[in-house]
Amino acid sequence: MSLLDTKILVIGAGIGGLTVARALALRGADVTVLEQAPEISEVGAGLQVSPNGFAVLRALGLDAALTERAVEAQAVCLRDYGGARVVRIDLSHLEMRGYYFLHRADLIDILADGARAAGAKLRLLQKVVSVTPGDRPRVDLANGAALSADLVIGADGLKSTAREALNGVIAPFFTRQIAWRAVVPEDETQPFEAQVFMGPHRHLVSYPLRGGRQRNIVAVQERAAWAAESWSQEDDPMALRAAFGDFCPEVQDILSRIDKVHLWGLFRHPVATAWHGGGVALMGDAAHPTLPFMAQGACMALEDAWVLADELDGPGAMDARLARYQGRRRDRTQRIVTAANGNAWKYHLSFGPLRWAAHTAMRFGGAIAPDRMARQFDWIYGHDVTARPNGR
Ligand SMILES: Cc1cc2nc3c(=O)[nH]c(=O)nc-3n(C[C@H](O)[C@H](O)[C@H](O)COP(=O)(O)OP(=O)(O)OC[C@H]3O[C@@H](n4cnc5c(N)ncnc54)[C@H](O)[C@@H]3O)c2cc1C
Repeated sequence: MSLLDTKILVIGAGIGGLTVARALALRGADVTVLEQAPEISEVGAGLQVSPNGFAVLRALGLDAALTERAVEAQAVCLRDYGGARVVRIDLSHLEMRGYYFLHRADLIDILADGARAAGAKLRLLQKVVSVTPGDRPRVDLANGAALSADLVIGADGLKSTAREALNGVIAPFFTRQIAWRAVVPEDETQPFEAQVFMGPHRHLVSYPLRGGRQRNIVAVQERAAWAAESWSQEDDPMALRAAFGDFCPEVQDILSRIDKVHLWGLFRHPVATAWHGGGVALMGDAAHPTLPFMAQGACMALEDAWVLADELDGPGAMDARLARYQGRRRDRTQRIVTAANGNAWKYHLSFGPLRWAAHTAMRFGGAIAPDRMARQFDWIYGHDVTARPNGR
């Protein structure tokens, strides 16, 4: 069976779903994307696309659209919460170039246009309530309709119905960390750098968006009080200002510009054991939800999309192609999720002498081997999934 004869349903018009829709439609598949929302839209927040994610957008012909709307990142600057610089990681030392900051809504626009232009059909108000794997997998919709296809791709995010169909219900656990996020106006004079301010039990990341006219903020705090795992729950900006009230004046200035802020609880989920079965495949957050500390959730979804399309376009029965897809993806995504799980404590050291020692070590490392600071991430950022043409 060639992809030309293959009817594919993709659940979810998010970052992964729209990307795989374009990748498969370009290879000749008949692709329909089912999205529960009434429109293709996005929460107001920024996103980092590192070179490994950018490589996929380039291979799909979307790089020019992205660079037109994104800010190319020059560096990541780690600072103490008093404002002192600990180390500046110069991104020009990365093995693979192309590190961008952009608004999520802009990325979704680019991907939706790209999917439509390749011939994929995007259908809104199509909430999937159940997925039934089988010889001809089926999805049931909230509006009572039932659809079947040769393949169903679950790109339905954190609370995936497709994941549940293949793996059962797996309860996540609260990490006792919460994150606020906001976008504020900016005056275009700031350097194109991410600033990470590290304090006891808290850190705040900020970077410019949209030509430097906006600034994205993600502020993380360790705390016992539970918060929902939702990207759309609003909070009072005063709560965020109070939580970071002892950070330096630069942070206070950024926080003073917030008029709307969202709060989300950070949960750990295991990487799915079964990524495919009975003509159903998982990708993106549906397969491997991650904490945000490596900023790789979207990039992993982009990588999945390329590899899934690449393997589906290869030889063998559907099950064998999907097994190759899982084989190429599971270990890498597990490694990134594990790295993200371990990252927060490094920013949050609260014991003074330990803090001092850690910061001194980072400062020293940055001074004697600045390229090594950046190159420690090459295993993530230098990985180009499009460079392996599936043996064909
Ligand atoms: C504040 C924030 C900052 C982030 N920053 C970064 C970053 O800098 N870099 C990075 O790489 N990642 C980042 N991430 C993570 C990244 O956004 C996610 O990992 C990524 O969006 C996952 O893509 P996805 O396509 O799997 O899921 P999503 O983008 O969540 O898309 C899922 C889609 O499925 C739809 N859907 C869900 N259920 C159903 C259903 N039953 N029926 C029909 N449709 C359904 C949803 O409406 C949605 O459109 C961030 C996340 C957050 C919240």
